[in-house]
Amino acid sequence: MAGRGVKDQKHCCLCGRTESEVPLLIEGADGWVCADCMKQIHDYVEDLTTIRQSSPAEKLTDIKKPAEIKEFLDQYVIGQDRAKKLLSVAVYNHYKRVNHNLVDKPNDGVELEKSNILLVGPTGTGKTLLAKTIARLLNVPFTIVDATVLTEAGYVGEDVESILTRLLQEADYDVARAERGIVFIDEIDKIARKGDNPSITRDVSGEGVQQAMLKLLEGNVVNVPPKGGRKHPEQDFVHVDTQNILFICGGAFEGIERHIAERLNTQVVGFGTSSKQRVLRENLLKYVDPQDLRSYGLIPEIVGRLPVVTHLDSLNRDSLLRILTEPKNAILKQYAELFRMDGIKLVVQSAVKELIVDTAIANKMGARGLRSICERIFNDAMYDAPSSGNRTFTVTLAYAKARLSDEA
Ligand code: ADP
Repeated sequence: MAGRGVKDQKHCCLCGRTESEVPLLIEGADGWVCADCMKQIHDYVEDLTTIRQSSPAEKLTDIKKPAEIKEFLDQYVIGQDRAKKLLSVAVYNHYKRVNHNLVDKPNDGVELEKSNILLVGPTGTGKTLLAKTIARLLNVPFTIVDATVLTEAGYVGEDVESILTRLLQEADYDVARAERGIVFIDEIDKIARKGDNPSITRDVSGEGVQQAMLKLLEGNVVNVPPKGGRKHPEQDFVHVDTQNILFICGGAFEGIERHIAERLNTQVVGFGTSSKQRVLRENLLKYVDPQDLRSYGLIPEIVGRLPVVTHLDSLNRDSLLRILTEPKNAILKQYAELFRMDGIKLVVQSAVKELIVDTAIANKMGARGLRSICERIFNDAMYDAPSSGNRTFTVTLAYAKARLSDEA
């Protein structure tokens, strides 16, 4: 091609590259466009159109009363009454606030402020389950995010604003709908400042993430990348006002009892695994308050933005037994359904249920362990039963023990 300028060759009229430099040239009325440029134009137009016109401020109707919300939670979550009540009231007030601040806008100057919530409780006690169950009930956008993936801008991970990207996606890119949504931030304790707490191993940098998160919790207009990921300069941002978004945070806050004990001036000698020490831990968690969260490593401004703090109880043997069988989608009900689909009635002897719970406790897995133990017991049966021709399958204690020791 020596001696011929680009102008003389078939080339993309946008980027100027010639036919040999691009995957494909597409002919138009007055020249060519390459496939790469076509794709960029397509993506750009898509970005512009995904941000929909905001819907008008519509009054939220069909608002469930706190008692109705709790009743719904009771069907799926065992125990945790206090947390359920607090959440029910918070969600109810959230609806009222949206209607008051965004729709009615009365001239009486009374602006209803939100009360974000913090749930403190050992892992596997139902924090995420509570959030997920509430989500089923809501007619506002709702999203669950994990604080461990969030990092300060400039580090590998997600920017804090990506929390709102998820909410926008849930709202189908309708900004006004997203602005009345609810966000559950799980594992918030993992962004606590690395202090004297030995259980926190990571601090990239916890405080920086907290400062970034504060902007969201405080109620600001935040620049949100519509597609998430890292922010970059050429990107168009969506402006989301977080003033009326309700934030519910959850975390295990492993080791916080020490801070509670110090504040209460209680003598605590070690936190081992003996049952006496466990009881101590459970009892102390009841007294958790904002001051303890600060000594744990949350910055005071964040603590100030989470005015409602409550704890979840750890689950005892009795609660685990109930979890196995009682909730609407209890694990054993799910297995029974799987067998029923093959026309087989599943019978699980009560001694087996106790074995499952005791194994979960012995393995220190709590409620999280129940499913994997059931899987070990029921797997062979699910393999054999469909072709056995039997109408009933009874899981006896001996059968269950044999399955568990098979794999041990
Ligand atoms: P976390 O408190 O760590 O967020 P999860 O809500 O994820 O715990 O609980 C893990 C699993 O354990 C849930 O999927 C659920 O099956 C079971 N579970 C935990 N707590 C309860 C509870 N209070 N009621 C019913 N199931 C529970």
